[in-house]
Amino acid sequence: MSLTLSVDGPRWRAHLESVASAHPGIVPVAKGNGYGFTNARLARKAQWLADRGHDVNALAVGMYDELPDVAQRWHGDLLVLTPWRPWVPLEPALAHRLVHTVSRVADLRDLLHADPTARIVLERMTSMRRHGMAARELWEAGELLRKHPGARVEGLALHLPLGQGAHLGEVTRLMNDYVAAELPADHRPAVWVSHLTDAELATLRSQYGDFRFRPRIGTGLWLGERAALRVTATVLDVHAVERGDAFGYRGRTAPKSGHVLVVAGGTAHGIGLEAPTGEQTIKARAATLARGGLDAVGFVRSPYSIDGKQRLFAEPPHMQASMLFLPHGSRVPEVGEDVDVRVRYTATAFDRVVVSA
Ligand SMILES: *Cc1c(COP(=O)(O)O)cnc(C)c1O
Repeated sequence: MSLTLSVDGPRWRAHLESVASAHPGIVPVAKGNGYGFTNARLARKAQWLADRGHDVNALAVGMYDELPDVAQRWHGDLLVLTPWRPWVPLEPALAHRLVHTVSRVADLRDLLHADPTARIVLERMTSMRRHGMAARELWEAGELLRKHPGARVEGLALHLPLGQGAHLGEVTRLMNDYVAAELPADHRPAVWVSHLTDAELATLRSQYGDFRFRPRIGTGLWLGERAALRVTATVLDVHAVERGDAFGYRGRTAPKSGHVLVVAGGTAHGIGLEAPTGEQTIKARAATLARGGLDAVGFVRSPYSIDGKQRLFAEPPHMQASMLFLPHGSRVPEVGEDVDVRVRYTATAFDRVVVSA
């Protein structure tokens, strides 16, 4: 009786393997709600990819607080994407596996003071303008690191915007800053990147043979094969209503006869209101009303659909369930039946994730 993410296991796993094969050195990203799957499951899947012989050595989490969910399920290196700050406590037990992202020279100084053998990647500011050092700061970081031979510089981190295939010029410029900073590195340094196309990666690999490129991928990996994913909600109750019957928290009345459906999924799952249907002008609303359209009486579109038709909320979603209004004439689903729901995977907490064998 739940909001369920059903995964076609063979299809999903084949997709994960094909993405891993196409991106040697891939750094799977497990953060937030685990793209709908939970971070714990993603950590196990990343380990599964490594066990299958794919070139996966590091798993990225978004925040230090997410490490406990993944550290026992994944056995390789752990990269934290949010830059380290002085208030983040260092976990000695994880230190040898942990790669810190450092985006300010002052933080680098503090981190090396707290752990002179820390493993770090230096984040260079990109056109995202989220975190990162300017060219001059990268150079200062190089100076500082040359005085800390125990520190392990794992390379450069670049977080790029989502622009499809428009990054080559920017990456080239930022990499030149990195080279100019003369950072100590006892092996082939890595450039940890996001949102580059396969063609851009190939070009960069041929241009910068001294570097390894490590693409951090979340969405394209976990959610890249949408046809393997299906989201459904159980119908929990069905009530016939006549025009004028009251229902819901707000004592609203049915505009015409039909059914009120109670379905699994509410605000706690991340089910939100959709934009009102149809046009917004008063004239357009009057015309819709004349046609008997339900949006004109204030019902808004829901993400639930029944028999392929998107349905309207009878009132705003409750905490764990939602009420839909089904006008007379539509097929009425049975209690226990599953109906389709369209969700944003990164914003939904499913009750169950079922992966077929
Ligand atoms: C979330 C994130 C990624 C992965 O992004 P997707 O679009 O999910 O592939 C990569 N790098 C950083 C720094 C991130 O925060």
